[in-house]
Amino acid sequence: MAAEIAYDLVVRNGWVITMDARGTRHASADIAVKNGEIAEIGTMIEKGGIEEIDAKSNVVLPGLVDAHMHMTLLRGIGDDLPLMRWLYEVMFPKDAQIQAHHIRAAAIMNQSELIQGGVTTFLDIFRFPEESAKIAEQSGLRGVFCPQIIDEPAGAGETLQSNLAFIEAWHDRVPERLYTWFGPHAPYSNFPETYREIAKYAEQLDIGYHTHLCETKDEVQQIKEKYGKSSVRLLDDVGALGPRLSVAHAVHLEPEEIHLLADRGVGVVHNPTSNMKLASGVAPIPALINAGVKLGLGTDSNLSNNNLDMFEEMRLAAFLHKLYWNDPALLPCEQVLRMATIGSAACLGMDNLIGSLEVGKRADLIIMDMHKPHLSPLLPEPYTNVIEQIVYSASASDVMTTIVEGKILMHERKLRTLDWEAAEADVLREAQDLLKRADTWRRLGRME
Ligand SMILES: [Zn+2]
Repeated sequence: MAAEIAYDLVVRNGWVITMDARGTRHASADIAVKNGEIAEIGTMIEKGGIEEIDAKSNVVLPGLVDAHMHMTLLRGIGDDLPLMRWLYEVMFPKDAQIQAHHIRAAAIMNQSELIQGGVTTFLDIFRFPEESAKIAEQSGLRGVFCPQIIDEPAGAGETLQSNLAFIEAWHDRVPERLYTWFGPHAPYSNFPETYREIAKYAEQLDIGYHTHLCETKDEVQQIKEKYGKSSVRLLDDVGALGPRLSVAHAVHLEPEEIHLLADRGVGVVHNPTSNMKLASGVAPIPALINAGVKLGLGTDSNLSNNNLDMFEEMRLAAFLHKLYWNDPALLPCEQVLRMATIGSAACLGMDNLIGSLEVGKRADLIIMDMHKPHLSPLLPEPYTNVIEQIVYSASASDVMTTIVEGKILMHERKLRTLDWEAAEADVLREAQDLLKRADTWRRLGRME
């Protein structure tokens, strides 16, 4: 007799790494999904699903959470420059020329890449967020959208007014999946008053806000000279340092600032690849961990990374701190995997919804093909090396299936919600249009 169909989706026979508080793993389990929620995790769930996937003893993980990225159109442009030259000579003039149609193309490219790399939730801080949000409506990804507000130089980003208008238009359009936040760029490009206003609005609207903080030495010095205090103090003094805030980078921090971030419940998103590429410095991650700060992981952008591969981000986070602090025991692989899942979710204020595979949470999960030479030998439970293989050996291309809210966005590496093949030529055309408008090649001295 055929099994009764009780679920929307059942993923069967997976090696389930739940990333719950106890670190529970199931050597072989099924996950049943109903109305976008994990309804049951167990061995041989009897009732069937409208759709069924055989995970074939491959690894099932919570979807990865990229807690700081920019939906940029370009990559491989303006590389090998220091951050402030990179920003002021190349990126800001380019950003000032960006049109909605550029972001539309960028969003298809970036969101295709995220789905293919097993990212189920992203935080996007950039321009024309409505274009990125429209593509996310279609792609099925979970997204937090932060219009990147820049007061100075004027015109390089969004404004408090355009951020408010975006929230008004989008806050309840896809309420369970697309979130609207504030996105002040950084204390050196925004006025303290902007942060004060945003903190107030965020409280009223019950939403979060995200900013870049203490990314480079120069910037820290600049803020000290201008305001006579650190960026962290500055934000605290205008009432902007609190649990609704998550910050990217946090590279140059004094011990006093680390404790202030912990006390105020601020989330810190680590971006090791970007920090290495731009030689920004090494964030004091061990000290932030010891202080009990919420810690997540992000890729930053295709311009500073140059990909959105969270597996690479995990690996580099672990390696960077082992090397820099001269201690191979720092950032063990399970801790890094926590940063990329439940840690990033906490930075977005969503650890009650996503970031681990538990009954009652949203069904955001990925299946990884572990039967590959570079992931072998994969030792079975209980004396397994499965987390080591995921963090130290796997990459984005090992993800087979990506599921958000119980909806399959990619299966067997085939995208179901976005058509990358159809978009590829468009992305190239839009990229060339943007380079031309921004006169980028001349700015880089690459043109006669
Ligand atoms: Zn950034």
